[in-house]
Amino acid sequence: MKKIGVLTSGGDSPGMNAAVMAVAKAASLYGIPLVGIKRGYNGLLRKSPSLFDDMEELHLDTVLDIADRPGTYLRTARCTEFLDPAWREVAANTLRAMGIDGLVVIGGDGSFHGAEYLCELGIHCIGIPGTIDNDLAYTEMTLGFDTAVNVCVDAIRSIRATSRSHDRPHVVEVMGRHCGDIALTAAVSTGAEIVLCPEEHWAVEEVADRLNRQMAKGNYRATIVIAEGCWDSMEPFDLYTYLNTHGKRCYEGEPMSAGRLASVMKRMCNMVEVRSTVIGYTQRGAEPTARDSAFAFEAGHLAVRLLRDGISNQVIGMREGKVFYMAIDEALREEKYFNHELYNLVNAL
Ligand code: ADP
Repeated sequence: MKKIGVLTSGGDSPGMNAAVMAVAKAASLYGIPLVGIKRGYNGLLRKSPSLFDDMEELHLDTVLDIADRPGTYLRTARCTEFLDPAWREVAANTLRAMGIDGLVVIGGDGSFHGAEYLCELGIHCIGIPGTIDNDLAYTEMTLGFDTAVNVCVDAIRSIRATSRSHDRPHVVEVMGRHCGDIALTAAVSTGAEIVLCPEEHWAVEEVADRLNRQMAKGNYRATIVIAEGCWDSMEPFDLYTYLNTHGKRCYEGEPMSAGRLASVMKRMCNMVEVRSTVIGYTQRGAEPTARDSAFAFEAGHLAVRLLRDGISNQVIGMREGKVFYMAIDEALREEKYFNHELYNLVNAL
C-alpha cells in the first residue's frame, strides 16, 4: 500500500470520527500515508475549486483531537453522481492520480455498494458500518447505534418521569429509517408499554385498545415508542374523517405523525391529554458511547491491516461480540433479523 484514503458517507453517525482516528493510528503504525476525502464520494469527483475542499492529508495529531466528537470531521454527503459508472471512473482515476491504492469507506449499505464498484475498477476498498439505524443484516451492531439508543433511553426516562407525575400517556418517535431496532431496544430498556416498528403490521384501533387495557390496570402514563418508519406498516386509517369528526381540524391528505397519533389516542381513550415528542437529530449528534468508540477503534485498525495485507472488497462487522470481516456482496445479501418475540413481549405486557 502506497497511500490510503478514508471517507465518511451517507448519514453521519456517532463514532465516525473515532473510526477515522483509529484508521489514522493504524496507518501511522504501519507507516502508510493517509488522505481524508471530504463529503463522501463527492471528494473524489474533483468538482471543488481547490484540492483542499476535496481532500486533506490526515495527520494523527489532528485526528486525535476529534476522535470523541460527534458528527464527522471529514463531512458527509449523498453523491448521486456515484450511481453513474462514468463518474465512478472519474473517482477511480482521481484516486490513482493521487497515488491512493486503498480506501476505507465508513457508511451504510448505499456507501458499500459504491465501494464494491470501486473495487471492480481496481481500487482496494474496506467498509466500516457507520449508521445509527443498525439496518445492516451481517453485523450485530453498526457504529452509532448504541449511542443513538442511549440518547433515546435518557430522553424516554425523562419523559416517563413527567408522564408519571401527570398520569398522561406519551408518544415518542425515534429514528432508524426502515429499521425498528432503535425503537425496540429503547422500548425494552425503558419499560415502555407499547412499541411500533416497520417490521410488524399494526392498526391505530389496536394501539388504542392496548392503551385502554393499560388504563384499566391503573396505568395512565404509558409510553408509546414509535420508529420513524412505522407508518410504512400501519393499516389504512382515515385520519381526515376521524379527526374532523372528533373536534380536531385535519386537512385532506395530511399524513399520520407522532403528534396526530397522540391526538387520535387522546380521543379514542378519552384522555385529558396525550403528548408527543420527536427525538430527532439529538440521536445522531451525541458523543459516542464507549461501546461505539471501542468498536470504531478495532474496526479502523482492522481496515488498515486488511488493506496492508492486500485484502479488499470486505466489510467489517461484529458477530457474537467479536469484530470480523466478510465479502461486501455476501454481507449485503444477508437478511436482516428482527426480534419479533421481543416486540410481542413489549406489547403484550
Ligand atoms: P448509506 O450509505 O447510509 O446507506 P446512502 O444510501 O445515501 O447512505 O448512500 C450514500 C452514498 O453512497 C450515495 O450518496 C452514493 O454516493 C453512494 N451509493 C449509494 N447507492 C449506490 C449504488 N447503488 N451504487 C453506487 N453508489 C451508491
